[in-house]
Amino acid sequence: MSSTPRNLQHPAVAGTGLARGRALRPRGKVLPEYARAHNRALVLQTLYDAKLLSRADLARETGLTRVTVSDLIAELIADGLVVERGQREGARPGKPAVMLEIDADAHHVIGLDLSEPGRFRGAVLDLRGTILQTAELPLDGRRGEQAVATVVELLDILRECTDRPVLGVGVGSPGVVDLAGIVLSAPNLGWRDVPLQQVLEYSSGLPVQVANDANTAALAEHTFGGAFGDVMVVRVGHGVGAGLLIDGVPLFGSRFAAGEIGHVVVGEGDADACACGKHGCLETWMSVPRLRARLAAAADAADSAAARAAVLRDAGKHLGMALAPVVGALNLAEIVLSGPADLLDGPLTETAVDTLRARTMAEFHGDLAVRMAANPDDIVVLGAGVLVLAAQLGVS
Ligand SMILES: [Zn+2]
Repeated sequence: MSSTPRNLQHPAVAGTGLARGRALRPRGKVLPEYARAHNRALVLQTLYDAKLLSRADLARETGLTRVTVSDLIAELIADGLVVERGQREGARPGKPAVMLEIDADAHHVIGLDLSEPGRFRGAVLDLRGTILQTAELPLDGRRGEQAVATVVELLDILRECTDRPVLGVGVGSPGVVDLAGIVLSAPNLGWRDVPLQQVLEYSSGLPVQVANDANTAALAEHTFGGAFGDVMVVRVGHGVGAGLLIDGVPLFGSRFAAGEIGHVVVGEGDADACACGKHGCLETWMSVPRLRARLAAAADAADSAAARAAVLRDAGKHLGMALAPVVGALNLAEIVLSGPADLLDGPLTETAVDTLRARTMAEFHGDLAVRMAANPDDIVVLGAGVLVLAAQLGVS
């Protein structure tokens, strides 16, 4: 059996990971009582970003003393998180510098994606987000406690897929999830107040982090997708939701439902009815089932290509209308879309950008982009991995 990963978590690394208003990545100095864990995370994050550094490089980059860095590196090497990779080539005269790197394959993490219709997916990842193994289980209509049992089963399968110590388990769940990993509400799975994090910790003996799938997707873009401080990821699937990171801080909202933009009304006149009882919610314009139904109808038109583009442009316009106040208020520069590329990539995205530019100050500085996610199929699984890295190591 692999060694327990819990002892890797320094007590004050509880000062990293997900918490309201806290940046994912360590920045600058903190109070002495938290200093060691914070500095450890700072060294790990610096190595994570730079890939190869010497102890002297690390001291320079972090502002920590050489002694502190050497001490922390000794601990990180003993924990199997950092490894020495030989000496720097062409080093200046004197003692050559030994290069250090994150040991990405010595520990693994497990990420679960519960957001897809009809199935649960998961993967074993290394610490760089490389997907090493995947597994999935069909839901076959299971809901409530049976769906929870399916998550437990999937996690058991994935644990058998790796012989490395597992740092922890991250889960991207649909619905509203609080900071204790309780799924307050996920109607599609029939979940209400399900303590998913606690259930999975009990069944696996591993540290577990659960977050909403759109928030999880935003973490994936932040760490692996090239999005830095500010990012809004809009997930388009059965519904429409968004995850937000502002200045490196994940946004949860007062009731943990930040980014739930699907039921913002952007219709005018005789807009379609929504499942929530209102008319013209963003989901009535943008959800995958509604878009597919409209495209199927457009296929019968005389000029079906034009009719298809018109449907997609109409959806893009309403997405732009719904997002414009958010983009304007937060001065966002980039919106990332995650969902079926055949629907999103093209007229829909182009019209969304035009609408946003026309309705915000971006019209004047032009620095607004709407793009597709870097890893659309694996975005939740990757983000679930980041949940673990942030919680256990303070790295993202
Ligand atoms: Zn609605």
